Amino acid sequence: MKLIPISFRLGLAALLAIIVADAASQARGASPGSAATPAESRIAVILVYHRFGPKVTDSMTVTTPVFAWQMKYLHENGYSVVPLSEVVKFVLGSGSLPPRAVAIAADDGHRTVFTDMKPLVEHYRIPVTLFIYPSAISNASYAMTWEQLRDLKATGLFSIESHTYWHPNFRSEKKRLAPEAYRGLVATQLDKSRETLERRFNSKVEMLAWPFGIYDDELIAAARKAGYIAAFSIERSNVAPGANVMAIPRYIVTNHDTGRAFANLVSGGSAERSIQPSLPNNPY
Ligand SMILES: [Zn+2]
Repeated sequence: MKLIPISFRLGLAALLAIIVADAASQARGASPGSAATPAESRIAVILVYHRFGPKVTDSMTVTTPVFAWQMKYLHENGYSVVPLSEVVKFVLGSGSLPPRAVAIAADDGHRTVFTDMKPLVEHYRIPVTLFIYPSAISNASYAMTWEQLRDLKATGLFSIESHTYWHPNFRSEKKRLAPEAYRGLVATQLDKSRETLERRFNSKVEMLAWPFGIYDDELIAAARKAGYIAAFSIERSNVAPGANVMAIPRYIVTNHDTGRAFANLVSGGSAERSIQPSLPNNPY
């Protein structure tokens, strides 16, 4: 029975400690987990790819082993790869996104999307949005064929959206053409692309990637008129609350985005410090 007073004193001390800590916490107006970090303004990160292959031939190429490492990193570090349409819904004010949302796009319809990207997309079962300019398809030597695009769409993992009809530089076209001719070109590029893709794939096309990331108020108005509900730039930024739905930012991924650089990119700038910078032997 001698233990009772001791245990009672300990109990009181513990209780007092809790009360003091709680009072201090309330005085600061703090609650657990309320500290703001830069990553908290990150709704999602959108990654955009162009070309893959065994080696880097230009700044837009991500080698296939590096791409494989990046997908493995997302898979093993709690990231959710969500359809780009889910990010758009969220920006438009409906739907919800998981905390570590990443969306993946590939622009221009390069044939290595079919040969190199597809096997990894199927391995990890991740949704990818392709931004296609139809004039290149089954035409340019570097581009996919319509059949390959149909094959990608049939996997259920790839969706196909517009990158205008022939990927013009709207800034130089505006300088070169008379105002009326320029407006005509813009309308044709926006309409013909959407109509061609909708006819080819029998599904609605509502998203647009601005060629070279070039846009302004006039182009945005034209895109809305042509039926697009969302458009994407290549500004290097997270998708944050209040993003402009007609210029949603995307990061162009480069072959340097491995290890800590990639971890920082997808976390919105608050990466863990223990990322191994080297590539594994087995990229899957
Ligand atoms: Zn492009």
